[in-house]
Order: sequence, then structure tokens, then C-alpha cells
Amino acid sequence: MNNCIFCKIVEKQIPSELVYEDELVCAFKDINPTAPVHILVVPKQHIESLNEIEDNHKQLIGHVFIVAKLLADKFEIKEKGFRIVVNCGQDGGQTVNHLHFHLLGGRKFSWPAG
Ligand code: AMP
Ligand code: ZN
Repeated sequence: MNNCIFCKIVEKQIPSELVYEDELVCAFKDINPTAPVHILVVPKQHIESLNEIEDNHKQLIGHVFIVAKLLADKFEIKEKGFRIVVNCGQDGGQTVNHLHFHLLGGRKFSWPAG
């Protein structure tokens, strides 16, 4: 998708700290981390947000969670716990309009989230 920063990262037109890649997703370190472990798991396909997912994305979305679990293990946050966040739209705090899943860990998170 034209001018989408995450499409450009997926296509390696701009650099990232890539930590995982397969045919469906890639994962890289967030440039502005809010936790000791802050990784973005990003479908390679350009989907604007959770508002645009459809039935034919079920396998992709399930795969994202399997990859997030693998990365939680790799980055040693699996045992103590972690959080996966998807921001959607303006009120949800979404700033990059290419669906992505934040994998956060290495500190304790509060709930309810502010
Ligand atoms: P969101 O606010 O949920 O849309 O999350 C977008 C995230 O992308 C933020 O946490 C940013 O720090 C992160 N981000 C933006 N540009 C880059 C980049 N070039 N490389 C890595 N992470 C980025
Ligand atoms: Zn995109």
C-alpha cells in the first residue's frame, strides 16, 4: 500500500529490528518501546485495522497469536506473563493504519488500562 510505513518495513524498503518473519507475518522491535520487551507482530498483507478484518483472515489472525506466543518464549516473558494490545481507530489510539499487534512484557502492567 502506497506510503504505508509498515508495508515499507515488510518490503524492507526501510530498516527495522526484525525478530521474526514467515510467509504471513513479520515481527520487529517497536521504535519507541513502552516496556522492556515491545515487539510488533504485523501481517504482511495491508489491512488497515481490526475494523477491516473478514472471515478469510481467520487463519492469519490465529497465526499472529501463535507467533506472539513463540516470541514470548524467545524473549523470556512467557513464564511471568505478557500483554498483547491492538489499538483500533482514533479513540483506540491507533497511529499506524496497518493492522499490528503489540507484544509487551518484562514489566508489570496495570488493569484497567488508562
Ligand atoms: P499504534 O499506536 O497502535 O498504531 O502503534 C504504532 C506503533 O508503531 C507505535 O508504538 C510506534 O512506536 C511504532 N512505530 C512507528 N514507526 C515505527 C518504525 N519505523 N519501526 C518500528 N516501530 C514503529
Ligand atoms: Zn501497510
